Amino acid sequence: MVKNLTTDVLVVGAGPAGSMTAKWAAKRGAKVVMIEKRQEIGSPVRCGEGMSKDWLQEVEIRPGRWINVEVEGARIYSPSENVFEINEKHAGNEVGYVVERDEFDKQLAIDAANAGVDVLLKTAAVSLLKQDGRVVGVRAKAFGEPFEIRAPVTIGADGFESQVGRWAGIPTNIAMRDMDTCLQYRMTNVDCDVRYCDFYLGKVAPGGYVWVFPKGDGLANVGIGVQVSQVANPADARTYLDRWIEKHPGYAKGKKIDMVGGGVSISAPLKQTVADGIMLVGDAARMIDPLTGGGIANGCLAGKICGTVAAEAVAARDASQEFLRKYDRAWRARLEEKLYRNWLAKEKLVTLSDATFDKIVDALSGVKLEKLNVHNILRAVREKYPEVTKEFEAFL
Ligand SMILES: Cc1cc2nc3c(=O)[nH]c(=O)nc-3n(C[C@H](O)[C@H](O)[C@H](O)COP(=O)(O)OP(=O)(O)OC[C@H]3O[C@@H](n4cnc5c(N)ncnc54)[C@H](O)[C@@H]3O)c2cc1C
Repeated sequence: MVKNLTTDVLVVGAGPAGSMTAKWAAKRGAKVVMIEKRQEIGSPVRCGEGMSKDWLQEVEIRPGRWINVEVEGARIYSPSENVFEINEKHAGNEVGYVVERDEFDKQLAIDAANAGVDVLLKTAAVSLLKQDGRVVGVRAKAFGEPFEIRAPVTIGADGFESQVGRWAGIPTNIAMRDMDTCLQYRMTNVDCDVRYCDFYLGKVAPGGYVWVFPKGDGLANVGIGVQVSQVANPADARTYLDRWIEKHPGYAKGKKIDMVGGGVSISAPLKQTVADGIMLVGDAARMIDPLTGGGIANGCLAGKICGTVAAEAVAARDASQEFLRKYDRAWRARLEEKLYRNWLAKEKLVTLSDATFDKIVDALSGVKLEKLNVHNILRAVREKYPEVTKEFEAFL
């Protein structure tokens, strides 16, 4: 029989957002339990493994063995394969490191454990415990055996398919047009350039892009994200990716050694991320960047805030929705403007023709951008192709 537990803060899910939340709650003095339904943290990997690095210091993650390749920048290819190159400092959210994602997730869990968090593996939350309408913990199963974990503060860090939010009555529904379906091969013997993460735009990947993230020694993650509402069937992602590979001899000669798929939300963030006794963080709160599909950095940044507020709520003996709104306000102040801006940009980008993508990349290849963001891109494009930016006036 597994014994029932009581703790201050319970974190459901040991992905980057969960481990980061747990670590910061423990660092701020709370007693923390983190549960993970899988037997191994970080595995299997469902990730392109690309991420920027300018945010790591803010959440106190030290560079480590999890860094696979440090890239110089990104190359963005238009449908006619005009290319626009941008260095890592100015590239925004997605480039800097190509990581070993399983190592990265494990390191964050180690950091959490070293900060005092108790980590329970192969332990899944199966429903919420509620008292007078407020969440007071979860019913869980460890190795199939039921038990309860009680905590004044419960955190849903259970990823894209989050159940915790839904169980708490927080609206988490997502529209088809706000979902990408992704597929990725790990390929060996390919001709990729380890200095760059490459992105291919246009109808090669309706509503998304093809990515090539180098892993060194002729190895690369070659993947695709397509918007679910732009294809007849989510399984079409594979057809598009295989077609792209066939057309690129440097990749067609390669061999596939691994394959992962999964869903990514490209929605605006949830309107509500807290309720009495509960907070949502990371993919569970739809914090993925809607333009790039990258969610590691945002999950970690929000995790630090979430863990800090969780510990404060415990110290104040107040886990009311009112108190926990401090987290909601703080993560929105840090991340929301960009998430909304990129969501609006994504809505527009899916309407563009290949000819327009060609013009945008052509216009960009001649200029030096201080920072790759929607505003700067549009300003640069307006110089050369004013007709293209007409429908984007609102962004400018
Ligand atoms: C194919 C693909 C490629 C991607 N590429 C990139 C990329 O290159 N760069 C980037 O930044 N982002 C990428 N992403 C997105 C990124 O993986 C996520 O944004 C990130 O993992 C979010 O972290 P998280 O901690 O919120 O959720 P997750 O990493 O999903 O972690 C959630 C955890 O909760 C556990 N869990 C779920 N339910 C329960 C339960 N009931 N009880 C206990 N545990 C539970 C899960 O097992 C999991 O370990 C990609 C996603 C996909 C699908």
